[in-house]
Amino acid sequence: MSSLAPDFLTALGMIGLAAWVLAWVIWVLGRPFWYQGLSQGLWCNTLIGMAYLLLALVSRNASLALLMASLLLVCLATSCFTIALQRFRQSDRLVRDSLILFLPQAITMALAALLLPQDWGLFHRLHAALLLGQLLYLLWLLQRMRRSTPGSGWVLVVVAVLAQSLALLPLIVQETSPLPFSRQRLSVYEQLALWSVCLTLFVNLVLSSIGLLLMLHDRQAALDQDKARLDPLTQLPNRTALVQGLLDAMAQAVHTGMPLSVVVLDIDFFKRINDSHGHLVGDRVIQSVAHTLQSQLRKGDLAARYGGEEFVLLLPHTHSAEALPLAQRLCDAVRLSPLQLSTGPRLEFTISVGVYTAQLQQPSPWEALVAAADAAMYEAKRNGRNRVVLAQPTAESLRFFERSHRDAPF
Ligand code: GH3
Ligand code: MG
Ligand code: MG
Repeated sequence: MSSLAPDFLTALGMIGLAAWVLAWVIWVLGRPFWYQGLSQGLWCNTLIGMAYLLLALVSRNASLALLMASLLLVCLATSCFTIALQRFRQSDRLVRDSLILFLPQAITMALAALLLPQDWGLFHRLHAALLLGQLLYLLWLLQRMRRSTPGSGWVLVVVAVLAQSLALLPLIVQETSPLPFSRQRLSVYEQLALWSVCLTLFVNLVLSSIGLLLMLHDRQAALDQDKARLDPLTQLPNRTALVQGLLDAMAQAVHTGMPLSVVVLDIDFFKRINDSHGHLVGDRVIQSVAHTLQSQLRKGDLAARYGGEEFVLLLPHTHSAEALPLAQRLCDAVRLSPLQLSTGPRLEFTISVGVYTAQLQQPSPWEALVAAADAAMYEAKRNGRNRVVLAQPTAESLRFFERSHRDAPF
């Protein structure tokens, strides 16, 4: 019977095809991705493919050295893969993670040296146990990466890793050597085992590369989006994010009929702080206020830097009876959180706060809500600063109020 085991040309064809797929993916995603650490991941996959190409070659010309060479390549590939993962996660635990990924391969090499060719069954079982541990770790890693990386690229990577592990199954079940000593002596199972190793590695090569590239692409897109919506000084949502939040909250308030409160606050006598302590201290005061706001907010509220030293809070489902005490708490918290200056003294500062509660019954311009709260904030400034003022209902909101009471059944 002529052998159906993958030969050199078949394996070379598979690697070539995989390389072509990678080239296409890279071309589609663009060159910048090459410079972000993922190139190692791609190279490592190519190396894994080459390792199994060697295994395929072995079906022609068996030798233990070839298996060791292929395992060595897998080791190299795994460490490259680790570096790629580390950069991808922006993690600093390079040594720990590298070891966890590298050790199973290294132990496998040692096992191969010790046990081969006496006990293939034992070797495969131990190898499978090691790979299972490695696989579980990788799945956990990917699961963690999922949180920071939306999109479905990780599914491809998981499928690829599973496929690679499944490749071992026929070898374990048959307790067979992946290194048959001559082509003519290959049984059907041995041929299946070789095909399974080569094919699943080919699948791994293609799927994990595409999956990782997709993950990187999605992560970059998410980071870019975050960056565009975050204020760099305070890390609070910026004006763009606030306007989007306001539009969403207003649409929801119209839909549910719940009140929506908007709070505008401004640091008192901030120019004096800048003038007497410098702009860097001024920046720290802005950061300190942002921090206090964040620590006082409830789940579902939004605090944004509107501009300069002015902040806006969005309190959905909140009536003025709740918004006023919350604003007063903020005012007190800022007054009670002075900044420790490097020169020694503590710098105290206060804020003036304006609150406006809208009972929206139809969509209105977002600027109207902010302007009403802003007017109340200036009222607080005029009344002596370091205080909260509730905006008087506008003529428009009064009209809505009257209409809703007139239409009410009782
Ligand atoms: P008031 O109590 O009436 O609010 O007086 P004020 O001095 O705080 O007046 P205003 O709110 O108009 O002050 C705004 C100043 O904030 C002007 C500007 O120089 C300063 N400023 C704006 N953005 C920044 C920033 O990012 N960092 C620093 N250090 N200063 C800023
Ligand atoms: Mg001010
Ligand atoms: Mg101001």
